[in-house]
Amino acid sequence: MKAVQLIAHGAPGKFELRDLPEPQPGPDEVVVRVRACGLNRLDLWLEDAGLPIPLELPRTPGGEIAGEVASVATNVSSWKPGDAVAVQSNIFCSECEYCRRGEESFCLRNQILGVQRDGGFAEKVVVPTRALVRLPAGVDFETSAALTLAGSTAMHMLTTRTQVRSGDWVLVMSGASGVGSAAIHIAKQLGARVISTGSTEAKRALAQKLGAESVVDSTSEGWPAEVRKHTGKRGVDLVVEHVGGEVLVKCFDCLARGGTIVTCGATAGREIPFNLWPFFVKQQRLIGSYGRDRRDLDATLAWAAAGKLMPVVDSIFPLDQTPAAFAKLRARQALGKVLVRP
Ligand SMILES: [Zn+2]
Repeated sequence: MKAVQLIAHGAPGKFELRDLPEPQPGPDEVVVRVRACGLNRLDLWLEDAGLPIPLELPRTPGGEIAGEVASVATNVSSWKPGDAVAVQSNIFCSECEYCRRGEESFCLRNQILGVQRDGGFAEKVVVPTRALVRLPAGVDFETSAALTLAGSTAMHMLTTRTQVRSGDWVLVMSGASGVGSAAIHIAKQLGARVISTGSTEAKRALAQKLGAESVVDSTSEGWPAEVRKHTGKRGVDLVVEHVGGEVLVKCFDCLARGGTIVTCGATAGREIPFNLWPFFVKQQRLIGSYGRDRRDLDATLAWAAAGKLMPVVDSIFPLDQTPAAFAKLRARQALGKVLVRP
């Protein structure tokens, strides 16, 4: 079977389209025929060795997989060839104290699909049955591949790690990104008034189309003041943040008393100066969010089936063009999700 493998780190890294042996399922595993796989910032971190974990090459990247079950191990009875599935990208152990209480995002033995084991930029992939979710009727492979990782990340941030009250002001950073576009949809559905940011006219127009009532230019020095202006100087109740660095510091300038920043990324920097005085005086919260629990993925696909959460697909590349898909995401040219269709 064909797979695109990363053989040397870099920006860009070195990829090769390879013919690999047909994958065989071990106990409790299935082979999934990949029909679509979403590209994420996580894949770029694998490409340029930007992850703070040991990485082994060659590796087939790709964690946002939708497809059909192709074959199952002899001890697997709950899945059969032809079943349409999505694959949860944080492959949890199901046995540690967190997994046992349904908080798989905290798993002590988590493995990241496409980073610590081979992923979905390939014709087939082997995954444990516990990572499978049945695709609901009406959710096609491309919708699933555009929402499974980014959409469930936003669902985890907005419904599990924090709560949104109807009428709340929610600021979504980078509304044209995968996490950002899903976060705008989810916050709107929960009754929030949404403000977003974008670095280009096209990205701001997309965020507005998705439901943001105002969108500020994140490249202008005074964007936090613009955000405050839109809320009558009050500030927002919640910031959905995934950029990090100086951007996160500036988010505190947008935040109302009692407000919360929930963050799931640090692309623009991992260490920030932090002023404790206004933080405790204004009784604010900074909350970390990582991956998703099983229930977040179930909710994401159920919302997609109900038409409450729509994917924003920028482009779809064939498998042999996977390096071009990486280049497009790295150049920050994508409006919504970039997918690969093997
Ligand atoms: Zn676990």
